[in-house]
Amino acid sequence: MPEDIKSMTLEELTEEIERLGEKRFVAKQIFSWLHDKRVSSFDEMTDISKDLRRKLKNFFKIYDCTIEKKLCSVYDDTVKYLYRLHDGELIESVVMQYKYGYTICVSSQVGCKMGCKFCASGIAGFVRNLTASEILSQVYKSAADLGIRISHVVMMGVGEPLDNFDNVMRFLRLVTDEKGMNLSMRNISLSTCGVVSGINRLKEKKLQLTLSVSLHAPNDEIRSRTMPVNNKWGIDELLRACKSYAKATSRRISFEYAMIDGVNDSDECAKELACRLAGMLCHVNLIPVNSVKERDYKRSSDKRMKSFIAILEKKGITATVRRTLGSDINASCGQLRRGQTAVEREV
Ligand code: SAH
Repeated sequence: MPEDIKSMTLEELTEEIERLGEKRFVAKQIFSWLHDKRVSSFDEMTDISKDLRRKLKNFFKIYDCTIEKKLCSVYDDTVKYLYRLHDGELIESVVMQYKYGYTICVSSQVGCKMGCKFCASGIAGFVRNLTASEILSQVYKSAADLGIRISHVVMMGVGEPLDNFDNVMRFLRLVTDEKGMNLSMRNISLSTCGVVSGINRLKEKKLQLTLSVSLHAPNDEIRSRTMPVNNKWGIDELLRACKSYAKATSRRISFEYAMIDGVNDSDECAKELACRLAGMLCHVNLIPVNSVKERDYKRSSDKRMKSFIAILEKKGITATVRRTLGSDINASCGQLRRGQTAVEREV
């Protein structure tokens, strides 16, 4: 297998280039072609000698993805991409426009092992991890296709990022490299379903990104019903890890809470949640659950959500309801890979 050159850090690339008998600065030129100008072939690297380009082709490959499908919302400017990878696998990314700039939601795995009951991502099981370059390609390709500058990344697409820890760390390093996209780490969010071992590892890295934790329930009984990961790490252990993370990084944790009618949305649930989170540097993001064809969960009513938020706020926990974007293109987790979008059905 030729080496995946777009997943290499500048230091690694420099070592490889020196091994080929070239000067160190050549590695910088190649890195800039890959991550700043974002070319997809060695022949486009016009300031690299033809001889070296030939050598590079022997040792390395620039893995790219191609647009299999592109859906544009008619309600807002949300665009959803289905990308095909070099081995034929399909992944999804979504670009959303906010006041502060364009945000891309990227996938970190093909499929997912976590099996959350309300989520479409894992219905067909887990296939494989994405490499750093495959996560990067989603950002580069979408920005180029739309002719925009993407300023924010959320790792909230298909997959569990902390279950693909090393590739995700490599992606974070590359996407924030000042010689590449140069994104600010503060503009990146990483969402986990609660992989405590991964939260502890991430804590050691002391990154300035925002950690989102998909909590979705105030107690083990409800959480275990919808999220199998809770059987491995229960809520107490998860929240202990979150507190320690917030303390070590001084970063506010964002808790995701999908409101599911009759499951986790009662006033009692709100009170219990407020008690659990009391005193923690955090924010709660309520998301009306998106219905997934294979599952019969329904979203809570607006009235229920207002009541839930009011209880949290009264107890001093800041909370917001997440705006729904791209609802006509089924822009949420795993729905495009499953091939059941409203737009497709209509045409
Ligand atoms: N594996 C990570 C990131 C991917 S999911 C995680 O679990 O956090 C991104 C977010 O979407 C998670 O909070 C997830 O629980 C939520 N989600 C999944 N399916 C959903 C649905 N049908 N409606 C609302 N939110 C959903």
